[in-house]
Amino acid sequence: MIYLDAAATTEVRREVLEAMWPLLTADYGNPSSHHTVGESAARALGYARRLVAGELNCKPNDVVFTSGGTEADNLALKGIALATPRGKHIVASAIEHPAVLDTLDYLKRVHGFRITLLPVTEAGLVDEEALRGALTEDTTLCTIMYANNEVGTVQPIPALAAVCRERRIPFHTDAVQAAGWLPLDTAKLGVDAMSISGHKLGAPKGCGVLFVRSRLPLEPLIHGGGQERGKRSGTENVAGAVALATALRLVQEERAANSAGSVTRRDYLINAVLNGVDGAILTGHPAQRLPNVASFCFPGASGEAILLELERAGVVSSSGSACAAGASEPSEVLLALGLDPEVAQTALRLSWTAATTDAEIALAARAVVSSVKAVQGIGTR
Ligand code: PLP
Repeated sequence: MIYLDAAATTEVRREVLEAMWPLLTADYGNPSSHHTVGESAARALGYARRLVAGELNCKPNDVVFTSGGTEADNLALKGIALATPRGKHIVASAIEHPAVLDTLDYLKRVHGFRITLLPVTEAGLVDEEALRGALTEDTTLCTIMYANNEVGTVQPIPALAAVCRERRIPFHTDAVQAAGWLPLDTAKLGVDAMSISGHKLGAPKGCGVLFVRSRLPLEPLIHGGGQERGKRSGTENVAGAVALATALRLVQEERAANSAGSVTRRDYLINAVLNGVDGAILTGHPAQRLPNVASFCFPGASGEAILLELERAGVVSSSGSACAAGASEPSEVLLALGLDPEVAQTALRLSWTAATTDAEIALAARAVVSSVKAVQGIGTR
């Protein structure tokens, strides 16, 4: 089986499991306990925090461990919006993950925030001038994802964050798909908050990080024992924090080498599919895209049928986001890119890890071409 759904989740890496193991066995303490077992767990948590801070070029106090990307996004958006007296207006892109869009909807319904969703180009890019024009005296927060999970388009975060910095408006980015493939230096990116999820990087599901500048007021979502400096109560998932930190360090070390190889595989796959299937459309930006994501639409063919056919051929993939899989509604992201609803129903996303080989990508390219043709009724086999 060739697994081409890494944007949904990844396998836990052996180095990560090995780093977690002692914290689930001998060093199982509660970091808040005042005895040697607890102190040992607290040291491990501190080590994970410093490791993450080093990779993100921030202070350890800017790191809040969460249960994943969804919680990190929720904490950033609700936490900053509800703590900042500036106003009740939030700016986001129209192609954010549901973890952001649904949180914004909550802030609108329950707390009366006004939300501006910035349109994107056909390739999925946010326009800097459109962002500048959307900011008002009331804007409390801006959130724009680093890389899109359905089409892989990468936003020019340093330029967009700079527009907000000029106006002293906090800027958050959802870097869940970007982590492992794009630079994460928060100072160079110029962001005030950034979400990362462990299970996209080779750590287990259920661990994430919100980088949030410690000077930014933040209303906690979870109240209790005051862990994470009061920003996220609850006994810390020490093994999860160490897993995430270890996975992050590994992908950061390997990033330059992995990205170059992956871009070659991506462009091979894109060309093979576009040349092999008449009318195939590449969705997202041709170049400003994640090295490990290729996404297409195949007008006239059902996306669900393509997925089934591909799985029969030994390739597992997705129609877009894992959350939207199985949904009969066309993807909001593809509609925002200007695709017709019928065309948006034909989407296919292939995404992989650095461990995916050239041979697997070549096999997958052939399988995509033959599967789409089979579904279109042309049938080459
Ligand atoms: N943001 C983006 C861009 C994602 O792709 C995902 C997961 O697919 C999330 C947030 C949610 O992360 P998690 O699964 O860790 O809750």
